Amino acid sequence: MFSKSLLLVFVLFASSINAGDIGVVGLGRTIFQPLCCYACLSSFWSLQLSCTEAQRETQDRGSDPFCHSTNTAYLSSLAYCMQVKCGADNVSSSETEQCWARVAGDGVSVGSLESNLPSIVPTVTLPYDAGALDQTSLVNEQYYEDSRKTIQGYVKQESAHALYGTILVAVVIGFCFCLGLHRLINYALPHRCLPRPISSFFSKYIYLPALVGSMHLRKFPGNIGYVPSRTLTLLVLCYIALNAVLCAINYPTLTPDTWYISSKKQHTSLIADRLGVLCYANIALTIMFSGRNTPLLWITGCSRSDIITFHRWVARVTAIEGVVHVVLYWNGTNSSGYNMFTLAAGIHTVNYNPSYWTWGIIAVIAMGFMVAVFSMLPLRTKAYEIFLFIHIAFAITILVGLWYHVVWRYHKAYGYEVWLYIAFAFWGFDRISRSLRMILLNWKSWILPSHPSAILELLPGDDFIKVTVFPSLIWNFSAGQHCYLYFPTLTTNPFQSHPFSVASWKNCSTPQPQTSANETSSSSLTPENPPPALPLHSTHNSTEPIIELQDIPLTTTPPNRTSSLPPKPSISFILRPEHGVTRNLHTRLLKSRKAKTAVIIEGPYGSAPSTKFRNADTILAIAGGIGITSILGYLQLYLSELEKGSKRRPSRFILFWTAREESLIAAVSSQMGDVEELNAKGVEVRVVCTGIGDGERVDVQELVRGEVLGEGGEGRKVCVVSCGPGALADGARKSVVGVVGKKGVSVDLIEEAFCW
Ligand SMILES: Cc1cc2nc3c(=O)[nH]c(=O)nc-3n(C[C@H](O)[C@H](O)[C@H](O)COP(=O)(O)OP(=O)(O)OC[C@H]3O[C@@H](n4cnc5c(N)ncnc54)[C@H](O)[C@@H]3O)c2cc1C
Repeated sequence: MFSKSLLLVFVLFASSINAGDIGVVGLGRTIFQPLCCYACLSSFWSLQLSCTEAQRETQDRGSDPFCHSTNTAYLSSLAYCMQVKCGADNVSSSETEQCWARVAGDGVSVGSLESNLPSIVPTVTLPYDAGALDQTSLVNEQYYEDSRKTIQGYVKQESAHALYGTILVAVVIGFCFCLGLHRLINYALPHRCLPRPISSFFSKYIYLPALVGSMHLRKFPGNIGYVPSRTLTLLVLCYIALNAVLCAINYPTLTPDTWYISSKKQHTSLIADRLGVLCYANIALTIMFSGRNTPLLWITGCSRSDIITFHRWVARVTAIEGVVHVVLYWNGTNSSGYNMFTLAAGIHTVNYNPSYWTWGIIAVIAMGFMVAVFSMLPLRTKAYEIFLFIHIAFAITILVGLWYHVVWRYHKAYGYEVWLYIAFAFWGFDRISRSLRMILLNWKSWILPSHPSAILELLPGDDFIKVTVFPSLIWNFSAGQHCYLYFPTLTTNPFQSHPFSVASWKNCSTPQPQTSANETSSSSLTPENPPPALPLHSTHNSTEPIIELQDIPLTTTPPNRTSSLPPKPSISFILRPEHGVTRNLHTRLLKSRKAKTAVIIEGPYGSAPSTKFRNADTILAIAGGIGITSILGYLQLYLSELEKGSKRRPSRFILFWTAREESLIAAVSSQMGDVEELNAKGVEVRVVCTGIGDGERVDVQELVRGEVLGEGGEGRKVCVVSCGPGALADGARKSVVGVVGKKGVSVDLIEEAFCW
């Protein structure tokens, strides 16, 4: 028994390393070739031999390899059939011999075809419905022909499944490339555009609006998620429709078919297989759309939240296809094909490991739980780290399950695992890119003691934190980007990272917008007396002692009023303390106000401002609360473009910022420069402190209408940039939609979001 098992393991191993073909069935990979060889095999394989153990209904199908490889009647009948039929098909004898070596003993060596030929031509012909073989016999001609057609039909169906899976992936990726091309054309030819009425129509009714009403970044009632934008919804619907069509078409039923017990079962099996293959193709897509570093982000220029939304929908469709695949097979058969397949069909599962069935079920259960329970918005917002842990653990379970599901059943002969290779490649690429980004930006702080540590400080008002990091190399940071920050000494999980918008950057090699060290006290900030605005700059005074954050003494350093930054490139972020690591940081900083600690930075992510920003003559930036951090980046970009004298740049920047907390206004304004200077550069700043509770509400619609339609003539180009709470961002979007096409002004929208 032990030696038998050992041999089986060897056969499995050998068949896996011999799989020379690449691709999927019909596209780079052939199965059941030469056909005559497999039609002969299928005609004899299921027959009861003298050595066949009595079978129970539900046990694994057919004779075991040791019986087939030792039974003379079987081997000589098969050899004779192959020689005659393959000769008639003009298959070369070496090809026939190779096929014989592969299949005759079910992987166990049985000598050459020649040596197994009967010494005299058999005279007995098997009846069509033969059940046993006890002497060397001629194949039943009709049964042989039916077996041949069955295999041809089966290969055709497998090729169709594989083709449709490939079409699905190709259409999605192809569409991404089209988006990329469109982006490239827009960048290269900014003045090439559709006639205004047409472009306005698309903007107003398809491209810009929320799906229904104005709900997009506000949470859907019941906290179940966000509603994708209208464009994204259309794309998702097209993708679902494509899946439905590819599931529904091309199921020719063969009669007679020697592999299925009825045409109903054949139909069920074909549908289940189609769903299974599409599920595998979709797994590749799911992973492609999941990573921080997926090339699809760079190609399409879409926001991460759009890409993640698509990832969610692909995952849902994948799970549904996987679940239906399992349900169909679960209802129709068992791991050995009982009650669906005839014994003759066993030739396509020779030496399979029955555990493939269990692994498939495990993968599909994990998929179901992952999309229906463990990815819901409440878990993501309440316990992000737990969500992330479960997400990764389940993703690994699914990929392992899917791997063994096909490899233990088909030994890589059909190429289903190709979809998993693609998934692994994209996942690996993302992880490697993250590591490279981290190494590039942080290596100096790891090995050079002279390299400054990150500086953390409480901003005036004591509610907000500023983090300044000194990247190891000069990198082109830009507005609209975010980075992930790791605080390895402060979190139990050193791999925990959090995204924060780049609020300002200082690149020593390029001229910086002029900043002032003057501070405006928070008490002077009122809607009537708006704060001056300038990009943040570090307030780190190199002469001031800065302590390590881990051992903060209970002393308070007065707020720093100078601005002597080490001559190093730096990036700053402003953090609102939430409940996790940011709260931890805040609590520690309350004791010292300023400290240094190890911060690893990974990024930057997010595309630099699109052509929309550069092509506009007026930027209307609408910030809500901590959303100001992202808008500050745009302001810095505006000022540096002005300083550089770029030809394609806006000439006016209106910053409208509403915040509930005075402390936030104090915190941000404490870092700012002279408002008169800004005004001279075309920047207008308006701040509204709404206060907690019944504070003043801001009429964004009025603001947008006033700014877009109020002044200037035909041909003005306004770009609205919004970043803030859902209600504010949705209000801005709705207002932009409302003014599109009016007064000949062209309006665009850039929406920065802190959620996905
Ligand atoms: C693109 C982007 C830019 C952002 N920029 C800023 C910024 O400039 N300033 C700022 O104060 N905040 C910003 N945020 C929000 C910031 O990421 C969270 O406030 C921070 O992760 C909270 O950490 P915590 O451990 O204290 O969170 P918790 O108290 O555990 O959670 C608070 C909220 O943050 C979300 N969150 C937690 N961890 C993550 C994560 N790793 N990825 C995404 N969301 C997470 C949770 O879902 C929850 O809604 C940004 C978010 C995004 C997506």
